Amino acid sequence: MTSKTLDFGVFHNVIGGQASKTTKTCAHTNPSNLAENPPFPLSTADDVDKAVQAAQSAAVKWGQTPWSERKVPLLSFADAIEELSEDFAKLVVQEQGKPLWLARLETAKGIELLRGTAELTLPDTEIEVVEKPYRKVFSRYVPLGVAVGIVPWNYPVFLALGKLGPAVLTGNAFILKPSPYTPFSGLKLAELAQRFFPPGVVQALGGDESLGPLLTAHSGVNKVSFTGSTATGKRVMAACSQTLKRVTLELGGNDAAIVCADVDPAVVGPKVALQAVVNSGQICIAVKRLYVHESVYDTVLAAMAAFVKTLKMGDGMADGVMLGPLTNELQYGKVNDLLGDISAQGQTVVVGGTNGDDAPAAGKGFFISPTIVDNPPDKSRIVMEEPFGPVFPVLKWSDEAEVIRRVNDTDSGLGASVWSRDMNQASRIGDQLKVGNVWINTHGELQANAPFAGHKSSGLGAAFGMDGLKSYCNVQAVYITHLD
Ligand code: NAD
Repeated sequence: MTSKTLDFGVFHNVIGGQASKTTKTCAHTNPSNLAENPPFPLSTADDVDKAVQAAQSAAVKWGQTPWSERKVPLLSFADAIEELSEDFAKLVVQEQGKPLWLARLETAKGIELLRGTAELTLPDTEIEVVEKPYRKVFSRYVPLGVAVGIVPWNYPVFLALGKLGPAVLTGNAFILKPSPYTPFSGLKLAELAQRFFPPGVVQALGGDESLGPLLTAHSGVNKVSFTGSTATGKRVMAACSQTLKRVTLELGGNDAAIVCADVDPAVVGPKVALQAVVNSGQICIAVKRLYVHESVYDTVLAAMAAFVKTLKMGDGMADGVMLGPLTNELQYGKVNDLLGDISAQGQTVVVGGTNGDDAPAAGKGFFISPTIVDNPPDKSRIVMEEPFGPVFPVLKWSDEAEVIRRVNDTDSGLGASVWSRDMNQASRIGDQLKVGNVWINTHGELQANAPFAGHKSSGLGAAFGMDGLKSYCNVQAVYITHLD
């Protein structure tokens, strides 16, 4: 099959193995040029009922299909996405705004995640075996039934595949709900999946902000895996409690990077700054607070400022663009509000602070220049809040115990990194960080066989790895004896 058989310009729901039209549609804009994108379905409670019913009937047989046979279509699906990866990457640019190189990387990482997931297994655990009189006790993982994946707009391909893979590999039927700001990639992925999975195993519904609550309230849904803001995550958990749905929450972060005294500022400065501004800062695990040892503070700050000035901002389809716009007007407003606070508090802006007017070829979209704030107070909004934009504070530290306390002094606990040549110091600091992901001399890495979890208000449960697979299952204990 080739891209000719998949139309990347028309979008519909995928229910019960079929393209499904809705009476009404919604629209959104390309964030780089504010042109209106093609319409996408506006699902109703009736569409949700149909999808849940199709999922329930598909889940019966799919759940009994051997693990080894469920893995095969997952790998074929990954190959098919790879074949169409350029189309998917361009779709991501059109709806999300990131530059094409990053959209290609997102698609490649999504495929890698799917393939890595397909290699995982969840073996039974033998607890006790007695020969005479015969007795065996073991535990195993059984599918939950119908799993719903609700995803945000910052990584529409990667996040959708990160839920779809583990859900179907463990024997569940899966319904994807993409963000209203980036519905295209998810709907197309589900459409493509129909070539490999039985009807009802992979479905997707487009819609506005009323769709998520319809799914979290539905009594036929057994599991909700949610990625999004902490505020919405709390609403999802409250809704799911009504039917005791299983819930996994991957929520907001305020990741710190701790830069120690012995680093080379010219190398580490740009590396860490890139982790703060790539995807225009719209990454849950972006560096959002940077703590630099006082002995290298000025040189690291200068290296970062010089580096971010080199990043060309503009339409993701244009040559040489490193940073795209923010994905939607709401986010653009939130980041501008934060810039207003930085200015009102009289904080020192080393570089940026504008809405992209100074950036060559930025266009008329939701652009904000990379902005670095020099040593603002610990309790200021730019330090305490998740900007989800290319704006970050750099803070000075001198005492190791004190910087660890400051980094941990937040409700967020998604990730943090330590940058040092002294591996003893790096590990000592890393061991004390209250986060789900600790990175040493790197930041933001994820892989299919490692758990990804947020501590504190950054999440509940884990995605990826064995822990991620288990989150789509019930554990079951089996006790066997023989009759005389
Ligand atoms: P959001 O919480 O506004 O929306 C996320 C998804 O939830 C969307 O699909 C939305 O339509 C849906 N939704 C909204 N209200 C709902 C409700 N009441 N019930 C069910 N679903 C509902 O988040 P966003 O603005 O799209 O994304 C940005 C946030 O996501 C940031 O805080 C970021 O840190 C977080 N994020 C976290 C991770 C992670 O893995 N921890 C990854 C990416 C983004």
